[in-house]
Amino acid sequence: MPTTTDTKTKKDTYFKCPQCGNEIFWNTRKQMVFCQCGALGVDGCEYYVRLVGDGKDRKEVIKIAKTPKNPTPKISKRV
Ligand SMILES: [Zn+2]
Repeated sequence: MPTTTDTKTKKDTYFKCPQCGNEIFWNTRKQMVFCQCGALGVDGCEYYVRLVGDGKDRKEVIKIAKTPKNPTPKISKRV
């Protein structure tokens, strides 16, 4: 079995509609998701991303998830 490392940088790509400002996450799980005004549509999953709408109208927004230095404290529950 191939060993997979899970330490690659996590990038979150959004597609932003300049008309209404809606941001749609790239992974829509194979569902066509439109922005509020309907000018931009995204249909994506882990294997492909399809974009609908005028190419010049959309903006690719890549958000890199920041990992906090201080780990979030775990809330332990005792039952
Ligand atoms: Zn829009």
